[in-house]
Amino acid sequence: MTPPVEETIAERVQSVLWKIRSAAERVGRCPESVRLVAVTKTVSVDRIREGVRAGVSIVGENRVQEALSKMGALVQTQVRWHFIGHLQRRKVRSVIGSFELIHSVDSLALASEINHRAEATGIRQDVLLEVNIGGESTKGGFCPEDLVRTISSMATFSHIRVKGLMTIPPPTPDAESARPHFRELRRLAERVAASRLPSIMMDELSMGMSNDYEVAVEEGATLVRVGSAIYGARDA
Ligand SMILES: *Cc1c(COP(=O)(O)O)cnc(C)c1O
Repeated sequence: MTPPVEETIAERVQSVLWKIRSAAERVGRCPESVRLVAVTKTVSVDRIREGVRAGVSIVGENRVQEALSKMGALVQTQVRWHFIGHLQRRKVRSVIGSFELIHSVDSLALASEINHRAEATGIRQDVLLEVNIGGESTKGGFCPEDLVRTISSMATFSHIRVKGLMTIPPPTPDAESARPHFRELRRLAERVAASRLPSIMMDELSMGMSNDYEVAVEEGATLVRVGSAIYGARDA
């Protein structure tokens, strides 16, 4: 039997990159305005390296210790690291300076801690604010109205740079049903951008995962976080 296309990690990376490009072109967006974050939680260093060889330039991890130990093993690949998981305040110190972007700032207290630690380290940390777009009680993140209310206090943090918003919408039966959530995140970013606060940029929208990243790109995603469509289903 001939193996199906997209069997290897390399083929899946190529396929995902192609679908991102096609989705962007469908809505008249420049394909270069969308970046793939390959989500590598639970994925071995060897398999991550395979993805990098196939065209992955950013990887996303959601656990601090797991990410830091993989970083050491992959320094030579020059792949860039994004943090996408819930970040505890006591772990902020160990992530500062190691991640190009933290997608998951879900409270003012966390933003303040990152600002404080970044100042102590002498850097400026790029972050996204995580929005609980579906208003789910089980999920973290800013509710849209809270975000609008709190964001001006973040403009005073001189050592973080807010680059945009991130969301994990509620589970939907199909990709199309996620569209209104993605659209809502984009509208929220437009609303925040209109207030023109210093150090608050709304250039990035991190939205879309394996099941719905094409719809997210059609709705304006600039970063899509794709795991299982590249590395296969996870046990954990
Ligand atoms: C695991 C994870 C993803 C990727 O999910 P897939 O469905 O495997 O693509 C994206 N974003 C976050 C925050 C994650 O934790």
